[in-house]
Amino acid sequence: MKIARIAAYRVDLPLNEGSYRWSGGKSVDVFDCTIIRVETDAGIVGHGEVCPLGPFYLPAYAEGVRAGIAELGPHLLGEDPTQLGRLNRIMDAALKGHPYVKSGLDIACWDILGQVAGLPVCTLLGGRYGEAVTLYRAISQAEPDAMAESVAGYRRQGYRRFQLKVGGDPDVDVARIKAVAALLGPGEVLVADANTGWLMHEAARVVRGVRDVDVYIEQPCPGYEECLSIRRRTDHPFVLDESVDGLDMLLRGRADGAMDVVNLKISKLGGLTKTRQARDLCVAMGVAMTLEDSWGGDVATAAIAHLAHSTPEEFRFTATDFNSYVTVDTADGAPRRVDGRMAASTSPGLGITPRMEVLGDPKVDLS
Ligand SMILES: [Mg+2]
Repeated sequence: MKIARIAAYRVDLPLNEGSYRWSGGKSVDVFDCTIIRVETDAGIVGHGEVCPLGPFYLPAYAEGVRAGIAELGPHLLGEDPTQLGRLNRIMDAALKGHPYVKSGLDIACWDILGQVAGLPVCTLLGGRYGEAVTLYRAISQAEPDAMAESVAGYRRQGYRRFQLKVGGDPDVDVARIKAVAALLGPGEVLVADANTGWLMHEAARVVRGVRDVDVYIEQPCPGYEECLSIRRRTDHPFVLDESVDGLDMLLRGRADGAMDVVNLKISKLGGLTKTRQARDLCVAMGVAMTLEDSWGGDVATAAIAHLAHSTPEEFRFTATDFNSYVTVDTADGAPRRVDGRMAASTSPGLGITPRMEVLGDPKVDLS
């Protein structure tokens, strides 16, 4: 089987809440996502999705996905999409770095492999653990009372895990964490994600200010060394996200005892092939995970569901149903949240069918 055509479509995904805000005054109103379609000479078609959280979150931007696919795609035409390890080596040889560009192509080829095998992607990634995957809800940064109100609303929808966007003024952040913690009960989980927003002296004040609150601290500072410094002066469970972009950082974090949980985003690591490798290493090291992506719609959410559902349950800290944050449906068959949880499709591949009328004309079309 050979790759006969690669196309990339741009879809704008407006947010239900109007906007999403996090540290440093950063915000997004409409996400620019790219859906990648890989067609084969056997008539089997696979899809992937990449959606950066704006151009200022990770080293990734929306137009870069399409530009990268135009650069990389010609190297993949004529190659066998079912040989995922081989395909990733070809991508890495043709384009240095740029993991987010490769992610959507890799996901689309997993979708093809699943259809060829007649198996859902989660089975190919290791199996299906449990009935469903527990989700968290990200709470956009706002005043403490507004964030507590938002948590109360999403709690009524069935969520039991919440990730507060902090990383602002330390005194306000302490108030945000305390306002939300007061609402929560047994079995509920609270994470304060600073998204690199604090300097060390600010992070030190916040962790001291919430010393008696049951809260996880996620990526307080920009650099790994600064995070490690905060980690060593707090007994809160600790999550690393932006600092962990591959196996080297996982091994370093393990050696330093730098984290209890890591956040693995599919496009940050370069696709399902590489995220599975990182996931399996975390399982071997006893590190729990948030399994997700930077953002996305139905296709990205399907990929997250397969990755998370194939991860042993005790290692699944949280996952994300990004398709419930946005107003546009891009595919049929994508996971839908029920009572704060979602499940991977049992159909072959990702189990989704894109709505071509929503995708429109391709921005990149290679054959
Ligand atoms: Mg995070």
